Amino acid sequence: LSFALCLLPSVRDRLASPLWQLLQKAFQEAETRGWHLYLVGGAVRDLLLADNEGQVLLEDIDLVVDGFHRSADVGAGVELAKALQQVYPAARLEVHGQFQTAALLWHNDPDLGSLWVDIATARTEFYPYPAANPEVEASSIRQDLYRRDFTINALAVRLTEPRAGELLDFFGGVLDLQSQQIRVLHANSFIEDPTRIYRAVRFAVRLGFEIEPQTERYIRHAIASGIYEQVQGKNGRAPALETRLKSELKYILQAPYWKAALNLLADLGALRCIHPTLELDKNLWWQVRLLARCLRRFDAQKSLEHWQMRLEVLIAYLATEYRGKVANNLQLPTDSIARLQNLDKAQFEVVENLPKCEQISKLVQLLRRYDLPTLILVAVKNPRFVRRNIWRYLTEWRNIKAPLNGNDLKALGYKPGPQYSKMLDVLLAATLDGVVCVNEASPQEIRAAAEAFLAEHFPLASKTKY
Ligand code: ATP
Repeated sequence: LSFALCLLPSVRDRLASPLWQLLQKAFQEAETRGWHLYLVGGAVRDLLLADNEGQVLLEDIDLVVDGFHRSADVGAGVELAKALQQVYPAARLEVHGQFQTAALLWHNDPDLGSLWVDIATARTEFYPYPAANPEVEASSIRQDLYRRDFTINALAVRLTEPRAGELLDFFGGVLDLQSQQIRVLHANSFIEDPTRIYRAVRFAVRLGFEIEPQTERYIRHAIASGIYEQVQGKNGRAPALETRLKSELKYILQAPYWKAALNLLADLGALRCIHPTLELDKNLWWQVRLLARCLRRFDAQKSLEHWQMRLEVLIAYLATEYRGKVANNLQLPTDSIARLQNLDKAQFEVVENLPKCEQISKLVQLLRRYDLPTLILVAVKNPRFVRRNIWRYLTEWRNIKAPLNGNDLKALGYKPGPQYSKMLDVLLAATLDGVVCVNEASPQEIRAAAEAFLAEHFPLASKTKY
């Protein structure tokens, strides 16, 4: 954090040069119009945290432009984004909200890679000459920063002249970066936006920082005062809040540090934002860890969304009647909602019928009705007997195939038709139950045994019948 007043050389040295050129272009365009432009938020935080030599990889950049636009309909941010798009035609332009915010997006660009640049407008539209009036300027960028979540995210670097490169730190963000604290800007922060609780945990665990004690008290107070009800659609439902909670949950549950974050959320009582009855007790913690083993073993290719499976295990821990509603509120995909709603039925069928399966083939018939995520959810929620059988099904039995296929049946002279599938099923069952295959037999021996089995059960004399 050894920054002198002018940060621009440090910013330049730490960014890949195409990105620095983009910023240069942006502040030149702003200067031409007499506007101020600031780099704000996470980029400033990460630049200040980076060690002195290292380059910082930024995929998200937040800019705030402080300027007056002649047209009341278009924010300065939007105009600046349009001007930049002229220079960078490969960028996609998005305009959000009431003409105030624009974003430029690059996807796998040869120079810029994947990059998202948000350009917001500070609220000085009422003042005719903001750039000429330092007090107005300071108050508008200050206001913008005051609306942010934590002091370490409320820092800005001015990119335009005069005083380009100056670090704006109205709330003590630099001290908090040094002392590694996550601190909110005001007492009502979490009441205003409960998803900030999840953000506080995310930044604390990711950066190895502490949630500053007063901030922690604000969190506990917000939770004690029932703030989580807002997220669950009571008190006049705010869907945007649920979308943001989902995206924070996703962020946390897919990060390498998800276990530590989940523990901290639980410790703060913040899992109540998912549902008031949700607690990370020993049993749930055990299930979550079992899930981690299942996913490592059965989904190394990551065909499932692991973060979502973690969330499903949390939701599946709730009483049956809450699961569908919570999954709906969090806008999970329809198959996930259905899985959670039908989990009790699947669980009942599996737990009831497993002990009755005297042969492996019966067990395979039972379990193959369910998809992998359902079996994983049932496995983590049930005692060892159920878990072991599901585990063996997933690791061994479901991979066993009948040693012959339809073409083989045809070559043997059986008349093609729907009966093939019955014959192959019978053959598979016999294979699973060890009737056909002898352990460590060669492929030729297995084949011969399978043909003999068919000849016995579907005699050659009745080839045409089968
Ligand atoms: P990351 O490196 O994880 O992307 P970030 O700080 O860039 O971190 P974003 O979620 O991209 O995080 O948000 C960008 C900035 O917007 C933050 O630095 C913060 O200043 C502000 N911000 C985001 N979400 C909120 C919120 N819920 N309340 C207040 N400010 C927020």
